[in-house]
Amino acid sequence: MGKLGFTVAAATAAVTCAVAAVVVGKRISSRRKWRKVVRVLLEFEESCGTSLSKLKQVVDAMAVEMHAGLASEGGSKLKMLLTSVDKLPTGSESGVYYALHLGGTNFRVLRVQLGGKRSSIVKQDVERKPIPEHLMTSTTEDLFDFIAESLKEFVDKETGTSSDISSVARRELGFTFSFPVKQTSVSTGILMKWTKGFSIRDMMGKDVCDCLQQAFSRQGLNMHVASLVNDTVGTLALGHYYDDDTVAAVIIGTGTNACYFERADAIIKSQGLLSTTGGMVVNMEWGNFWSSHLPRTSYDIELDANSPNPNEQGFEKMISGMYLGEIVRRVMLKMSQESDIFGPLSASLLKAFVLRTPSMSTMHEDESPDLREVARILDDVLGIQDVPLKVRKLVVNICDVVTRRAARLAAAGIVGILKKTGRDGSGGIAGGRPKTASNSKPRRTVVAIEGGLYSNYRMFREYLNEAVAEILGEEWAPFVELKVTEDGSGIGAALLAALYSSEIVDT
Ligand code: ADP
Ligand code: MG
Repeated sequence: MGKLGFTVAAATAAVTCAVAAVVVGKRISSRRKWRKVVRVLLEFEESCGTSLSKLKQVVDAMAVEMHAGLASEGGSKLKMLLTSVDKLPTGSESGVYYALHLGGTNFRVLRVQLGGKRSSIVKQDVERKPIPEHLMTSTTEDLFDFIAESLKEFVDKETGTSSDISSVARRELGFTFSFPVKQTSVSTGILMKWTKGFSIRDMMGKDVCDCLQQAFSRQGLNMHVASLVNDTVGTLALGHYYDDDTVAAVIIGTGTNACYFERADAIIKSQGLLSTTGGMVVNMEWGNFWSSHLPRTSYDIELDANSPNPNEQGFEKMISGMYLGEIVRRVMLKMSQESDIFGPLSASLLKAFVLRTPSMSTMHEDESPDLREVARILDDVLGIQDVPLKVRKLVVNICDVVTRRAARLAAAGIVGILKKTGRDGSGGIAGGRPKTASNSKPRRTVVAIEGGLYSNYRMFREYLNEAVAEILGEEWAPFVELKVTEDGSGIGAALLAALYSSEIVDT
């Protein structure tokens, strides 16, 4: 039953004592209600089970799906997009480079000055700007002109000079564009689909870099788009700049995704791209991973059915910051429908996504003896007042089950990547099937991690780190390091611009 079962049993015992003095009829009915609620929790906990053997099945499934996604387009729920990034920064890059990050409600422009040796970043400046909402559904020209203008202001302000084409040398820029793109080179990519509230029809099927480059010309900005990457690839680039044992990057924030460096001979897609000899970064789009081994509950099924993208992003819906609070709310709602432990059914508890993951982590990590923070959030966010301590503990338990499952599944995904690349001690996969025996030697391996869920939610981070070590086992775990790489998505794009700009011939 584990730690949680014990807590619930203890809480059950406590409530039994608490009601001892009350009249017999009332006692029986409140005991019955409490039992019902405990049953909801125990059933939920059981269907969220992530035993070591279950996690190992998820590891194998991830490795096998990676293989299938690489082998043929549409061969897996994992898109396994080839990025054309066939080398990574080493730490010896030098000069001033720019990056532009588009992929949410804010966009960022940044400038880094690279020291030329020992991975030094001499100076960096960042500016954030919200995207005016009407531009998210306007035209390519309107959106990109706005971006180019903001960039021009940033450049002029930083340098104190004009960035007009005629007056200065061309600058190189990396573009982090976190939407699905089909790339044919590091600086060419066709938009496949808009997500995150963007919908600009006249850009579908167009080359994203061309669109940006044209906006730069219209604004008279002497800037060249040298690399187009998504945020995971940027994170991998920054991780590798600092530590060249970095082989993969994982984003765990509002959404989740991963990329890794794959050997050329393992990339067997028939795209005529593989003149490359050393391999290439593959953007897995792992949020869409699915396997029958994933521990799915009735709450997950309902969340998915009510989402705007049912049957998509199944892994993400169990793991990322966008969804964890919502799963907790759904379990609480069920309890509230089965009993009155939260008082009369609260109207707020019926609102989808009202409980955000940062509030959930505040409740989960509340260390005050009377769980004051839990009480505050229940009141402020869900309109639930005056809940006794045992009920607050129950809420903490729900948060624990949801986060523990999420973190352990993400850990299994990471080890899946290590397995696919032969760095987990299992011998990798052969012919699309996992191997079990291994006689390879451990090698130091670093995975770069970025994202608000991992960096701000301590319990999530601890569960994830712990599970990676548990799955790998004593012999291999000491060789694998998970390293937080803050703002990799921006700086990493600038690093890739540095790496690739020298190759670009003027046209
Ligand atoms: P994005 O993924 O949108 O690029 P971030 O990497 O900053 O942005 O991640 C933000 C997400 O991280 C939030 O949507 C939220 O789900 C999660 N998050 C941020 N802070 C916390 C926190 N204190 N506790 C739990 N989750 C958090
Ligand atoms: Mg991000």
